[in-house]
Amino acid sequence: MRELALIFDFGNVFAFFSYSRACESIGAPLGKTGDQILEQLAAQGLNAWIRLYETGKMSSDEFMTHVAEASGSTLSLAELRDAWRDIFWLNEPVVELVANLDAQGYSLVLGSNTNELHAESFRVTYAEALLPFRELVLSYQVGHMKPDGRFYLACAHAAGRNPSACVFIDDLPANVQGAIGAGLQGVHYQNDEQLVTDLRRLGIDV
Ligand SMILES: [Mg+2]
Repeated sequence: MRELALIFDFGNVFAFFSYSRACESIGAPLGKTGDQILEQLAAQGLNAWIRLYETGKMSSDEFMTHVAEASGSTLSLAELRDAWRDIFWLNEPVVELVANLDAQGYSLVLGSNTNELHAESFRVTYAEALLPFRELVLSYQVGHMKPDGRFYLACAHAAGRNPSACVFIDDLPANVQGAIGAGLQGVHYQNDEQLVTDLRRLGIDV
């Protein structure tokens, strides 16, 4: 068994995402772009709803009702759910890296700030790519989101390691700092080459 465990962020590390893309199908029947819808939602409290939704304090129906009302959407709730789910595409080099680390015997965990609709969707769509992860730690299930220290401790627990034997990889500097604050090692993901270099520097075989 390898001493170190690696915990990967999902959004903009394992897969890319775009809220604007999700908003395109909401905007199309209204003659608006995804960006216009996104701006409209942001002005009415989208970030606050996401925070509640992604810490498990707001249900999917409540969240989608907020989005429907704030966007003036004429779509059904089912269509809105589909639009909201259509947000991700895989970051193939990181998917390959994760598969290699798995083959090298590392304990791997996914640690994501996410919500029920997104997680239900990506777990099915990317089931095969996600196989190397022994556990998915999802904020809406844990009840805490990055950079809250409790989120990282849940990840270390899922990895079966002490926090100091965990390397947390995230694209947001605040989330990397949160990991370090909780006693984990942190790597800021910027691009694939830099990630491999940083992991090797930590003695990881990749
Ligand atoms: Mg991210």
